[in-house]
Amino acid sequence: MSQRYDVVIVGGGPAGLTAAIYLGRAMLSTIIVEKGAIGGLMALTDKLENYPGHETVSGGDLSEVMLKQATRFGAQMLMGTVTKVEKTADGFTVTSDGGLVSARSLIWAAGSSPRRIDVPGEMDFVGRGVSYCAVCDGAFYRNLRVAVVGGGDSSLKEALYLTRFASEVVIIHRRAEFRAKRIIQEEIRKHPKITLMLDSVVEKIMGKDFVESVTVKNVKSGETSDHPFDGVFVFVGYTPQTEPIKHLVTLSPSGRIQLRPDGTTGTPGLFAAGDVVEKVVYQVATAVGDGAAAATATERYLSGH
Ligand SMILES: Cc1cc2nc3c(=O)[nH]c(=O)nc-3n(C[C@H](O)[C@H](O)[C@H](O)COP(=O)(O)OP(=O)(O)OC[C@H]3O[C@@H](n4cnc5c(N)ncnc54)[C@H](O)[C@@H]3O)c2cc1C
Repeated sequence: MSQRYDVVIVGGGPAGLTAAIYLGRAMLSTIIVEKGAIGGLMALTDKLENYPGHETVSGGDLSEVMLKQATRFGAQMLMGTVTKVEKTADGFTVTSDGGLVSARSLIWAAGSSPRRIDVPGEMDFVGRGVSYCAVCDGAFYRNLRVAVVGGGDSSLKEALYLTRFASEVVIIHRRAEFRAKRIIQEEIRKHPKITLMLDSVVEKIMGKDFVESVTVKNVKSGETSDHPFDGVFVFVGYTPQTEPIKHLVTLSPSGRIQLRPDGTTGTPGLFAAGDVVEKVVYQVATAVGDGAAAATATERYLSGH
């Protein structure tokens, strides 16, 4: 027998936790289903310097406070990976390895995972020199030497952004040509702080406590060489977490949920928030705003039913 709620939220990142705070305060019975760390990507962020109200805060601490607020207003938690979502006559049934939950309404806030390059050292140095977000971590690399891995639009834009802080930015790209727009490529090639390592891939990331160097392989010659770096920014794309819900929403070309102009998904009672949604800025501050908006829309939907 599944438990029945007013709202089930999938994803306990900042978007899902904020939605739970708003729904709890609106006296709606709410459950969050989360497969990993409460706080999502935010919880894995060592230091946030751009979340208003905190000059500096650890992502773990911020996650704990958000969880406390959500549970204080009555939200329940279920640990489990959601594998299936079904629309029923009176709401939704959500299947996870932690149990079955049914609810009148559903908020999908499952985020988007940065793709890895899967080389030795990458996971060992996440938050200690390996980053997947220039806007988030760039300021920690003032006057330091960083590598940017990737050749698409977003990697070149992130490389340009990093020149504000770093003393040198080296773009490591597996091909001789970039996929990015010509205008960005020209800016990159002219920039005095940027150098290119083309036809090259990262083989290994090394260091003691923090990243110190990277082994790079030239894919044409097969030669490998070690280069000193203080940071490695990986921008090889994101995987939006939409698999269990994709039959109920419209996906954008990048695989994110495309909301309608009025903020709805197209399926009555189903809302979405945070990084899983197609938008312009992917940050904690915007995820929190999306969570509040989705909760308010859910509340309005439920009061009409
Ligand atoms: C390295 C890095 C550093 C960052 N630093 C900053 C920063 O300094 N400042 C800032 O504002 N932003 C930063 N960001 C961005 C910020 O973390 C995200 O924009 C924000 O966390 C998005 O919130 P969200 O709730 O939409 O998704 P997430 O935080 O990704 O949370 C989604 C949650 O859903 C869960 N989930 C996914 N699929 C399922 C499933 N099938 N079943 C159950 N649960 C599921 C996940 O486990 C996760 O906990 C950083 C991002 C990265 C990668």
